Amino acid sequence: MQAKNEVKTYSNYIGGKWQKPSDGYIESRNPANGDLVSRAARSTPEDVSSAVEEARKAFDSGAWSSKRPSERAKVLREAAEVVRREIGGLSVLLTLENGKPLADAKGELLNAANVLEYYSSAARHVVGKVPRYSGADISLVVHEPVGVCGLIVPWNSPISLLSWKLGPALAAGCTVVIKPSANTSGISMRFIELLASIDGVPPGVINAVTGPGDKVGAELVKNGKVDKVSFTGSTETGRKIMEMASANLKKVNLECGGKSTDLVFDDANMEAALPGAVWSIFRSAGQSCNAGSRLLVQDTVYDDFMRKYKEAAGAIKVGDGMDPATEMGPLISKGQLERVLGYIDSAKEEGARLSLGGDRLVDGEYAKGNFVRPTIFEGVERKMKIFQEEVFGPVLCVLPFRDEDEAIEISNDSRFGLAGDLWSRSLPRIMKVSQGIRTGTVWVNRHLNPGPEVPFGGYKQSGLGRETGMEGLMEYLQTKHISLQLTEQGERVRR
Ligand code: NAD
Repeated sequence: MQAKNEVKTYSNYIGGKWQKPSDGYIESRNPANGDLVSRAARSTPEDVSSAVEEARKAFDSGAWSSKRPSERAKVLREAAEVVRREIGGLSVLLTLENGKPLADAKGELLNAANVLEYYSSAARHVVGKVPRYSGADISLVVHEPVGVCGLIVPWNSPISLLSWKLGPALAAGCTVVIKPSANTSGISMRFIELLASIDGVPPGVINAVTGPGDKVGAELVKNGKVDKVSFTGSTETGRKIMEMASANLKKVNLECGGKSTDLVFDDANMEAALPGAVWSIFRSAGQSCNAGSRLLVQDTVYDDFMRKYKEAAGAIKVGDGMDPATEMGPLISKGQLERVLGYIDSAKEEGARLSLGGDRLVDGEYAKGNFVRPTIFEGVERKMKIFQEEVFGPVLCVLPFRDEDEAIEISNDSRFGLAGDLWSRSLPRIMKVSQGIRTGTVWVNRHLNPGPEVPFGGYKQSGLGRETGMEGLMEYLQTKHISLQLTEQGERVRR
């Protein structure tokens, strides 16, 4: 099915105005057929620094941070409402630019609205403490906004992941400069356009600049007037960001890559575990940070489970996300296609057994897009690249395991620690294994978060800090101690 798209050209949004870039535009193309979807600014270092200046001015003026929490809450509530009201057009644009099935695009936008609404309430719950303190009459522990925040976002869930940062940043009273991924700048700037229509946001509170990450994103991270960078993307880029941010000890939040495990025990409800484990990897064509790209199945049920699993994965309908029958869309770009095919080749070379897919779809209309068939490798060894590295594509590796201890040991054999699923009916087993796995999230008998109330983030090289939940709000707040001596004969300062 073809969707009509009006190709729009977006400028940068700086200081409450749309400002034309000095170096032309970048293009984003539909990964299902190569059609042009939108154009966005190719920002220069001057564009980035002018956005940071505006954010700095807006922060230092107190125009946003000194508003009542209820006023900030109102803006966030309206942001959630505008996403819900415009969900039809937004979801089509998201599918055209990112490739995910339209129903998944709607799901992502609903998540974004839900998160913004959550932080609308959270804005009114920033509370401090008055602890007993021996050295002063009164001690106040208060929270203040961190300041100017650079928000750097990837393409795989560009609007929900932006809302995970924007919601708490605005709730806390920070001002922001947003840097979307070059692949999904159109949908991101359309979202900014909707935010710009909301009353009550002073100029300079929300700014957005687009362009290639290694130039525009890096300028933002290096800028000395930015107090904090919140980044979601690959571990490799996260490492560079940490290095750049070290120059002025900027605060950093990193939400990076993963190699998550899906553990299926022999006592699991197989009717739930089977689709759960299939969609844990093949949703979004494997382009999810939390994709369950390592499936571990208990040896006693391995053959039966894998027979059914391959049947289910082989029946996934791959296609254009605008076709309502499509269950799995294309990979985001030609570069990502090459990368994924490279991992498939390396798995074969290292001796893994290909038991499903393993190739690009090239017949007819498929030839125009970046489609890879759902792919499964068995006979995988733990030292193989396919088992250790994040592929970010529809490629699964499978291993049998003997018991709980071995399941934990194999799961933890990774430099990543983002998430994991486990399927079992035994509570002692669930508690032992979920506490043994070193990841920021463990989903038991389900996959994915139920809502924005809970924190998400990684152990090990999957990241630093947490997003969503009140933990996500605290990342945008500083903690200050104010020590008050009220009596004239206050204690002298002593150690
Ligand atoms: P990426 O690291 O290539 O890019 C992410 C963002 O950083 C983009 O906006 C990009 O333009 C920018 N960027 C790139 N180089 C930069 C640099 N040198 N300095 C500053 N900014 C730079 O990642 P991607 O390909 O867009 O996204 C896929 C990755 O994101 C995967 O590794 C995935 O696991 C990860 N991810 C993690 C989470 C999470 O919550 N942990 C969620 C989604 C995606």
